[in-house]
Amino acid sequence: ADQTFDLIVIGAGPGGYVAAIRAAQLGMTVAVAEQRETLGGVCLNEGCIPSKALLDSSELFAQARDGFAGHGILIDPPRLDLARMMARKDDVVKKLTDGIAYLFKKNRITWLKGAARLAGRNGDLLRVEVGGNGTAPAHLLEAGKVLLATGSEAVPVPGLAFDGETVVSAREALAFDRVPEHLLVVGAGYIGLELGSVWRRLGSQVTVVEVLAKPLPATDGQVADALVRSLKKQGISFRMETRVTGIEKREGKAVVTVESSAGGRDAIACDRVLVAAGRRPVMAGLGLEPFNLAMEGGRIRVDGNYLTSAPGIYAIGDLIHGPMLAHKAMAEGEVFAERLTGEASVVDYEYIPGIVYTWPEAAGVGLTEEQLKGQGIPYAAGRFNFMANGRARCMGETEGFVKILAKPDTGRVLGIHVVGPRASDLITEAVTVMTYGGSAADIAMTFHAHPTLAEAMKEAALDVEKRAIHA
Ligand code: FAD
Repeated sequence: ADQTFDLIVIGAGPGGYVAAIRAAQLGMTVAVAEQRETLGGVCLNEGCIPSKALLDSSELFAQARDGFAGHGILIDPPRLDLARMMARKDDVVKKLTDGIAYLFKKNRITWLKGAARLAGRNGDLLRVEVGGNGTAPAHLLEAGKVLLATGSEAVPVPGLAFDGETVVSAREALAFDRVPEHLLVVGAGYIGLELGSVWRRLGSQVTVVEVLAKPLPATDGQVADALVRSLKKQGISFRMETRVTGIEKREGKAVVTVESSAGGRDAIACDRVLVAAGRRPVMAGLGLEPFNLAMEGGRIRVDGNYLTSAPGIYAIGDLIHGPMLAHKAMAEGEVFAERLTGEASVVDYEYIPGIVYTWPEAAGVGLTEEQLKGQGIPYAAGRFNFMANGRARCMGETEGFVKILAKPDTGRVLGIHVVGPRASDLITEAVTVMTYGGSAADIAMTFHAHPTLAEAMKEAALDVEKRAIHA
């Protein structure tokens, strides 16, 4: 081998890069193989970060166009410089991916550019080939432990193959060079709703087609309903219980045929189709076949140490069970490295927050009302509308509410669900309280500065005992 390490990480997304940094901090020698030119994986390069950069830019544009007059700020209608908006997004991404390269250097992590694959064993060591031209690898490395962190990719919809131009995944929809006239979004999950929002704000007609009866099936029903009402008000149309059956393309235009579950057929003319109908683990070309890794539900099976069924081979992030989220992958990266050195760290899977970064935002942690009902768990609910929150009034952002679900006897919090301004930031208080086993009364007796959006959390907690002050 060219070099031997304690740990080789394949894939430098939020799971892999965090695992590498933590393992290096704990004294291991670490190499990371990444096939992209930059670090950070899907999240930094074509996921979380560029989507939030465009959500923030397009939100400002929509505010200037539709919201400023309400604040008494009169301007000529704002004009869009899409190329500049995209360049800014690219710059945000570059600053962050460069930041990880700096952290790799600081922690003396060896970064190898190229696709990696497992190449059998050499005694107790696993062999990994990186890069090369198909006949000879550029690098041959060995390590006692290999961490698979190759993440996920968009799943195509039958009859609607990706072509990178008309039928695209989020990657291309984060980099359109002009505003589509009519964007058809297949899938009402968070990726579809976030990117649909971006292009709607920038002027596209947006239609979301979803095969299920409800969007965001993992989200609390009242929150999802409130969010969809808002998005409809913003001009996004929804075709629920409808499946795409085919597409006909001519000269940059497309006609997509759809069929509703009631049997009605229809054709929708559009110029771009964003397929955001789920993601699947990336495992092809990794040389995993000889190791015969055990799978469960389409993902790689791991134990509490993130060890797969093959000795020395570990996996984290989108490859394994659980929600495909960056903060979940990062937590696993940290815990994986710590457990290798014998620490008893764990990931609190019960309290992983899920967020939809539309406007209003939706965020939740713990059990939804539907799950509590389904599992026959008794609960008390407290709710507070942003309409009655002073800061929300000042901001002119009064849509939405905070809902707290708690045990009727002890008040222990079972779930908190928010739809409204900055729900993404507000949910962290809920995660903290739940992680420490706190109750609604704990939230209610904690100071929440006035006037802040966070006061809605306190009032919802008071409402669990039906003693809210401002409701
Ligand atoms: P990934 O980030 O997928 O990284 C895997 C890396 O492995 C990639 O860089 C890939 O190039 C590399 N790789 C694959 N195979 C090989 C190989 N053979 N050799 C070398 N390298 C290889 N999550 C959130 O929590 N919040 C958000 O706001 C959010 N927004 C998103 C928006 C979009 C549009 C998308 C698509 C996803 C979003 N996600 C978000 C999900 C998040 O991006 C993923 O959950 C996260 O990136 C998973 O991390 P990972 O480390 O498992 O893998």
